[in-house]
Amino acid sequence: PISISAAAMGASDRPAISNDHPLVINLDHGDPTMYEKFWKKAGDEATLVISGWETMSYFSNKDNVCWFLERGFEEEVRRLHEFVGNAVVDGKHIIVGTGSTQLFQAALFALSDPNSDQPANVVSSVPYYSVYPVATDYLKSRLYQWAGDVEKYQGEGSYIELVCSPNNPDGLSKQAVLSSENGKGKTIHDLAYYWPQYTAITAAADHDIMLFTISKTTGHAGIRIGWALVKDDEVARKMIKFIEMNTIGVSKDSQIRAARILSVVRNSHDNSKIVHSVEESFFHYARRTMTERWDRLNEAIKSSNGAFILADFPSQHCNFSDEIIESHPAFAWMKCEKEGIDDFYGFLKKHNILTRGGEHFGVEKKYVRISMLDRDPMFDIFINRMSIIH
Ligand code: PMP
Repeated sequence: PISISAAAMGASDRPAISNDHPLVINLDHGDPTMYEKFWKKAGDEATLVISGWETMSYFSNKDNVCWFLERGFEEEVRRLHEFVGNAVVDGKHIIVGTGSTQLFQAALFALSDPNSDQPANVVSSVPYYSVYPVATDYLKSRLYQWAGDVEKYQGEGSYIELVCSPNNPDGLSKQAVLSSENGKGKTIHDLAYYWPQYTAITAAADHDIMLFTISKTTGHAGIRIGWALVKDDEVARKMIKFIEMNTIGVSKDSQIRAARILSVVRNSHDNSKIVHSVEESFFHYARRTMTERWDRLNEAIKSSNGAFILADFPSQHCNFSDEIIESHPAFAWMKCEKEGIDDFYGFLKKHNILTRGGEHFGVEKKYVRISMLDRDPMFDIFINRMSIIH
């Protein structure tokens, strides 16, 4: 079979499909190329030119504890959260990172105690985002270590609970399981998917450390920009120190570009500033596309007569759209009930669909995670295949 990385394909490159060489579609990564369509329409509004002499200094704002944070980027982040209502920004430090992946590591560093002789135990409820265990143990740090499923956690020492909500991979809303009242526990809330295209915005989140990323908000994963909202001064300072030690700040060009992208998103919802090239506001477009895709997937797996199962999501009132809506997560978390098939990943691979198997998320191989954010041609092939395999 011909293998092609979905990420390497241009939006208009329709793959040639032949029965002799069926195309392998790669829906393993959550590469958010689906959003390209919107940004192509946005055209010049979202285009940025940076002159040769600009963005040369290491420093962005010497008056801010986060001295590498671009003012324009900070303003757009605050403005967007206030508009969407998904997180409380007042009284919070904003820390920019090279993707929220860097901020996740900065937060682990900031929450662990360098004077303790035991590493802090890092836990999360299953199924957990597959990067958490590997990124936690990658450097074999003496500060923290991966300790697995929070429900089974019985450790004595200090712990850090990772709460991903809506959760990658299963799309469900999550809350912390362990209490932090004993003084031993801290939490990191990864809210990468707490945006109106994926789920109902039911309240403005107000946790100690909240992580967001432009990758899943607007689809610009390649800009490598994430941000943390942090309550505590000391924790914020330690996270900033980590980023200083790690990369001496964060690309200014990327921050300026991210600010532009976020401003187009915001303006696309404002009738007086309507971006003339886009006909639809960003979150409306993104929500409509996700709804269509989920409807198509639900329809396609009907022919499996119950062999392939997707979770049901509760309908909730969304404060942002003022509508009752269902969740349409960035990933389909699918279970295989087919007799004799224990390795669902292997089964789909034989049908030239690459996914990520349940074992990466701390559960059985009967589950797979499938990206719902690829480009239309790939998604079309995926739907066609799912509707004929049994
Ligand atoms: N958290 C979650 C839950 C994610 O799914 C992802 C991206 N797959 C990230 C963090 C990382 O995002 P970024 O591209 O900003 O590093």
